[in-house]
Amino acid sequence: MAIKLITFDLDNTLWENDTVIARAEKACYTFLQQQAPKLTEHYSPEQLVQLRLQLMTQQPHLSAQVSKVRKLSIQQALESTGHDNNDIPDLVAKIFDCFLQERNKVELFPHTIPLLKTLKNQYQLASLTNGNSDLEKIGIAEYFSFSLSAEKVGASKPRPNIFHAALHKANVKPEETIHIGDHHLDDVHGAQQLGIHTIWFNPKKQRWEDQSDREKPTATVHCLSEIISAIEKIR
Ligand SMILES: [Mg+2]
Repeated sequence: MAIKLITFDLDNTLWENDTVIARAEKACYTFLQQQAPKLTEHYSPEQLVQLRLQLMTQQPHLSAQVSKVRKLSIQQALESTGHDNNDIPDLVAKIFDCFLQERNKVELFPHTIPLLKTLKNQYQLASLTNGNSDLEKIGIAEYFSFSLSAEKVGASKPRPNIFHAALHKANVKPEETIHIGDHHLDDVHGAQQLGIHTIWFNPKKQRWEDQSDREKPTATVHCLSEIISAIEKIR
């Protein structure tokens, strides 16, 4: 069966993301120290993270809405530390802008652009993310026919919704599609449930068996430079 669509996870697949988020949260906290010192007197950076995680547990319907949850957690922290209700919406917007600015300053892996350039000539490419990065701002939107996020679709990977939406949008069958991502559950298991081929991007060279007891990915690569040949094998 010919491969027609290749979908990519973004965070930790096309760039290293953990340091990006850590830096973005640090920038927000510094901004909060200047703009809302009453909040930072009461909340450490770790406590703000806890507050956000708590919100997701209490309101599971928000689990796909990462931007909304982040804004809501800042709003609650501002409310609980005696900020004027009239100032809160504006403050929340500013702090979230600060987060997004830093969040989109990513350093792509060295093979990301060469890989996307090569694949774009042969396949339809799409991005499927649970996060809130902006490919226009990052500068790689031109390589993708379309981009879907959990926020837009209303359900995060590994739930099938976003994969279904991608197949529907590209008008392709699961067996004509390969999904590439770093996460054993969100990416590999999520796509496999629908019969989509999977390439597990595993730069840390972890053992699949240590990560998951589910069906193995169709292929595993340790570097993005190995993807073209992995796709050839699947074809
Ligand atoms: Mg990822």
